[in-house]
Amino acid sequence: MLIVQKFGGTSVGTIERIRNVAERVSRAKRMGHDVVVVVSAMAGETNRLIDLAKSAVPKPDPREMDVLVSTGEQVSTALLSMTLISMGFKARSLQNHQVRLVTDSAYTKAHIKRIDAQKLTSVLKEGAIAIVAGFQGIDEQGDITTLGRGGSDTTAVAIAAALKPHARNGLVCEIYTDVDGVYTTDPNIVPQARKLKQISFEEMFELASSGAKVLQTRSVLFGMKFDIPIHVRSSFNDSEGTMVVNETLDMESVVVTGISYDKNEAKITVLHVSDKPGIAHSVFAPLAEAEIVVDMIIQSASSDGYTDMSFTVPRGDYEKAMAILQELVKQKKATYVVGDDKVSKVSLVGVGMRTHSGVAAKMFKYLSDAGINIQLISTSEIKISVVINEKDMKKAVAVLHKGFGLEDAK
Ligand code: ADP
Ligand code: ASP
Ligand code: MG
Repeated sequence: MLIVQKFGGTSVGTIERIRNVAERVSRAKRMGHDVVVVVSAMAGETNRLIDLAKSAVPKPDPREMDVLVSTGEQVSTALLSMTLISMGFKARSLQNHQVRLVTDSAYTKAHIKRIDAQKLTSVLKEGAIAIVAGFQGIDEQGDITTLGRGGSDTTAVAIAAALKPHARNGLVCEIYTDVDGVYTTDPNIVPQARKLKQISFEEMFELASSGAKVLQTRSVLFGMKFDIPIHVRSSFNDSEGTMVVNETLDMESVVVTGISYDKNEAKITVLHVSDKPGIAHSVFAPLAEAEIVVDMIIQSASSDGYTDMSFTVPRGDYEKAMAILQELVKQKKATYVVGDDKVSKVSLVGVGMRTHSGVAAKMFKYLSDAGINIQLISTSEIKISVVINEKDMKKAVAVLHKGFGLEDAK
């Protein structure tokens, strides 16, 4: 079998933990599997490098930022590889110019275009363990790029997809992290959270894209597209984790599978804009031009030919978005712009929502019983999200988790 094992920052956070990872990798190798390992930077290292850049200059150049932050993963590959070699295994660290993981040139948030499987297969053919740096790629010019925070998950699943045609007797992508699997919600904020045996790609995608950082959203998309079985599990114990799989029939009997939250949110309302064709475009086009991603747009009912629009943006883009929208006020296209960067989004996810009604009504009741005010609501086929004051976030997740019966039976 071909096993791609990815180890996150906490899992390679110290030399002792790297030894523990080497032990686990060696076990898979001894069992006769082909093993490719993808590693993150040691815990805290990526943040340290980002802070270092910010202390050098207020707005670091994105190309240079990627040169800097990609070094964290390089360190981990070498440390793990030399540990395995000292244990008597053949191992080879590989950076992305060697693997040829080619991306576009969107520094700090690059997308993978292709992976040259040949280098990896030749290392595997020699009987060696390939240790690949996660999170980074090279663009067509050969410049270093990175895939966005949490990007090593995507490296791992994308490598599994690229190697799939070469896999003998099956393939699995194992994501080793600091929790035992995917839970009904973040176990670090709700201790009663329950580990899921399995979850569908679609649900995992919705949870990840609405804030659950246990897997990077794009890794789930790769898994879905190339049908890669993903096993999320702990690097500290041997317990079975969570399989991310294609949807099965019985999954729809569960209405709510999980709850996610996102603290990285800010809300903006543009007040009193004239309600005529083209107005939404004039509000959102300048934001799109500034590469600000807008989420949860709500336009209120028109009165006297005017309307209000509310939406959310990532918190890091809040100041920039407010400045852009002030221009609309200057041009007299809107009367005011108000905002709040102390909001959070809480989302309920479950494929069962397709076939069960009344989930939103229940959600709003649990929140109102807890005295939590809802500021914005959005729904999709298998997800309902609300924006609330950030101080209510933990409480909201806890009451919804209990209300929808997601707690551990124990
Ligand atoms: P790694 O460094 O291994 O990539 P991350 O910190 O990126 O780990 O992701 C693991 C974290 O994801 C957990 O520690 C947990 O706090 C968080 N998390 C959020 N939602 C969930 C969830 N539903 N199930 C499990 N973990 C979750
Ligand atoms: N080291 C990178 C980060 O901290 C990538 C990863 O760990 O997945 O975001
Ligand atoms: Mg991660």
